[in-house]
Amino acid sequence: MSKIFILSGAGLSAESGISTFRDSDGLWENFDVMEVCSTQGWAKDRDKITNFYNARRADLEDKEPNKMHHYLASLEEKYPNEVIHLTQNVDNLCEKAGSKNLVHLHGTLLDLRCEACGFVWEIGYAPQNDDFCYKCQSHNVRHNVVMFGESAPNYRHLYNSLDACEIFIALGTSGQVIDVVPFAKEAEQSIYVNIKREEYVTMFGSFEEYIDTYFTDKVIAPATQAVDELDALIAKYMKS
Ligand SMILES: [Zn+2]
Repeated sequence: MSKIFILSGAGLSAESGISTFRDSDGLWENFDVMEVCSTQGWAKDRDKITNFYNARRADLEDKEPNKMHHYLASLEEKYPNEVIHLTQNVDNLCEKAGSKNLVHLHGTLLDLRCEACGFVWEIGYAPQNDDFCYKCQSHNVRHNVVMFGESAPNYRHLYNSLDACEIFIALGTSGQVIDVVPFAKEAEQSIYVNIKREEYVTMFGSFEEYIDTYFTDKVIAPATQAVDELDALIAKYMKS
């Protein structure tokens, strides 16, 4: 039973130098973002997409967790079995910081997946290059990052995690891919941590009002500068 439910996104890893398609203006090192992140792009040119993910995977090797990644790992030690962390990030910085109770909603860069049988295995930082499935020997092997246009099986954890949670924390996520407000509405306490208030308008009006209405607390700061305030809020709510 996890009392603390964290849902994180790109803002958690941004200060560690992990860039995202959202701040890339549609181009990511000369790759068209919609092409490399969609099932259409994958169907059109598998080698090109594989090269893109090989480069992202290699980029990760020298990246280090930041103060917030370390804080989240320490939270698991402070409150054993009471923290569940679901991340939209595909990097391994939480694991490098020592987190164990973590679910990657959109897959991870460090795994490959067999398209024939679904088997997933770790490739580490190495490039995918004529790899074949250990289980069924198929050569139809792909990166293990969820693309636009396909389902994300780990989304089932979103609803399970909410069931027992008392504190919901939206951390470094814009709320555009996964709407965070329905979770804030359900949890007893909810904390929104993000570098800025998103300015886009939702069907409910401005996102700012939307967040202000449903979250108990907001910490508007880059992740590493939000640690102390977040820690104080969690300590307060875990005591009460
Ligand atoms: Zn297989």
